[in-house]
Amino acid sequence: MSATFALISRKVYTSFRPLRVVQGLVVHRGKVVYSGSGGEAVDKARRLGGDVLELPDWTVIPGLVDSHTHVDSLGLALNSVDLRGVGSIEELKTAVREWSAGRPGWVFGRGWDQERFREGRFPTRWDVDEAVGDRPVILIRVCGHMALLNTAAAEELGVEELAKERLVRNEAGEFTGLVVEEGVEAVMRQFWHRVDEETLRRYLLDAVSHAVRYGVTTLGLAGASIRVASSLAELSLSGRLPAKVMVYLNLDAFRRFSELDLRAPMFFGKRVGIVGVKLFADGSLGARTAYLTEPYEDAPETRGLKLLGREDVAGIASRAERLGYQVAVHAIGDAALDEVIEGLRGFRGRARVEHLSVVRDDQLVKLGELGVAGVVQPHFVLSDWWVLKRVGARRAGWVYRFKDLSEFIQISLSTDSPVEPIDPWENLYAALTRGESEGIELAKYTADQKLSMVDALHYYTSGSAHALGLESEIGRLEPGYDADFVILAQDPLELEAEDVRRVRVVEVYVGGERVYP
Ligand SMILES: [Zn+2]
Repeated sequence: MSATFALISRKVYTSFRPLRVVQGLVVHRGKVVYSGSGGEAVDKARRLGGDVLELPDWTVIPGLVDSHTHVDSLGLALNSVDLRGVGSIEELKTAVREWSAGRPGWVFGRGWDQERFREGRFPTRWDVDEAVGDRPVILIRVCGHMALLNTAAAEELGVEELAKERLVRNEAGEFTGLVVEEGVEAVMRQFWHRVDEETLRRYLLDAVSHAVRYGVTTLGLAGASIRVASSLAELSLSGRLPAKVMVYLNLDAFRRFSELDLRAPMFFGKRVGIVGVKLFADGSLGARTAYLTEPYEDAPETRGLKLLGREDVAGIASRAERLGYQVAVHAIGDAALDEVIEGLRGFRGRARVEHLSVVRDDQLVKLGELGVAGVVQPHFVLSDWWVLKRVGARRAGWVYRFKDLSEFIQISLSTDSPVEPIDPWENLYAALTRGESEGIELAKYTADQKLSMVDALHYYTSGSAHALGLESEIGRLEPGYDADFVILAQDPLELEAEDVRRVRVVEVYVGGERVYP
């Protein structure tokens, strides 16, 4: 396909709010230059020396924008042994042995759960040694809070020094290969140092190509090291990246950049930009580290963990504002959100709040006054099926209240992949149904928080573009916007909510260039 072409289809949605459907688009030098009637589009493309692409039976929508992902971790996850559902230690050994054959270097896996093991015990480093000898192996438990290392990995990482307090020992005092909590983080940091440049680039490319297959044309990367950011920049500059990635630096990387007075946004070629900094105000509901104003229902001794106070947020935000960085803050509990709201008062840059899992009524108003973007993950509703155990029925109305939030602030739908699947159609299903068919308890209390298909698509395109600060470049197919679009075999607006997971992506274009298949 040349740089100029007309796209003619039964239905081209140029935007979902306002809802506008046309039959013709003209793409020229990566941008949409016309949207309207099919006949006019053909004439215009011919005048510009272009071709005509006819798709009579298909539906075209703007490319989907997943504003909160972890591209590096997704790439690693795609290159790992999947141990979910493994039923015994013997089976785990076989899976690791088979996966590692023919793949050199470190072996990484995730998803094991000893509760499922026939042996009725935790696996040890000696089990893994039997399977793979002296190849270094790291296997993360399903929850992410525990890791199993074999002897070679433990020695190479110097784990007994690295994770001292967080090692699991047997009765004889020997290290079993298991590390927990901060020990897992320390192991992962060391692991990433050992991933060479070429492998890192492959992980990043694998992750972005994987997202593209589902119709995602722009990704937000929520928390990147300098190394990950520069690898992405290189991939963009060498023209190898199939979609756009907007990077929010982690706090360490942001500190380094701001010491050097490096300003944002900073673009590298057409597809990568460094646009902001990502902070954490608290932990997660799963681990009971999300910071709540009242104690956990199932652990009355705790309210979770405050990772940043209002002064910390304000301090970082003012530096970000001076240098042009957006500020994205993870806030899951309502007490964490109080700190973020107070910390952002007076901030005149662009801010977004990530997750917003537990939000009180008074906070909706304050969020609206601040004018922040709200970046939410509908699929959490399905994964956190236990959430009412944590907060109790009394606070059920505060949990994942997407509809309420959308009435006060601009919201964006995202997946936090690899925490949730990157597949936007699964995520839309969760936004539309809230797990009613799966018997999710929260659905009973919050049925009024279901989104409609048209609204959900608006938040997945234009809403997410807004969260990334790209609302005048992507998310719509009107003249002046980037020609990022997805060709679908079905019209999602004609489907029942239950069927949206069956949508088939036929082709994907970024900047007028076909990137899938
Ligand atoms: Zn995240």
